[in-house]
Amino acid sequence: MYPAQPWHKIVWSGNTIPRWSFILWLAVLQRLSTKDRLRSWGLQLDGTCPLCKSANETHQHLFFECSFSTIVWQHLATKNMILDMPSSLVEVLDWYCGQVNSKSLKSISLHCSLAATVYGLWRERNCRIFQGKVMGHDQVLNSIEADVRDFLSSRRKMKLSSENQSLCRNWGLSNRIFLPV
Ligand SMILES: [Zn+2]
Repeated sequence: MYPAQPWHKIVWSGNTIPRWSFILWLAVLQRLSTKDRLRSWGLQLDGTCPLCKSANETHQHLFFECSFSTIVWQHLATKNMILDMPSSLVEVLDWYCGQVNSKSLKSISLHCSLAATVYGLWRERNCRIFQGKVMGHDQVLNSIEADVRDFLSSRRKMKLSSENQSLCRNWGLSNRIFLPV
């Protein structure tokens, strides 16, 4: 579907944790078992998105077009001081390819937020379908933010710039990220 895949090294880089990378990788390849795929294999099931209940569940809908997911992305975009998070899987690929070798805190924060959000939305979708448990977008967002904060708080030797100090405040990180190892 996509040529050469230069992005696969980036998806698996050290800016995320393996379980996030794994789900993100499957999402980018559109290989998660979304309802549209299950139906295409002949399974008889309700194809409605479990997050918003107002559209058919596809990869593009679930992660980027769903009203539930959009609220989560918008909060994270504000924390990361950007106008928009990616709005399609193709944009994710383009974005990843532009991040090669970037070690800035903003790049790490965006990379990590993207992977943690795709993982968090997929986890919530599965909880609703398989366990009948429902969390609101506030709870899902809190959980994703806590995951990203934990990951970022272990970073060290970040440049003491105004941008990094703002990110540090937005994510509730301590000044330890500016210390040498
Ligand atoms: Zn939806």
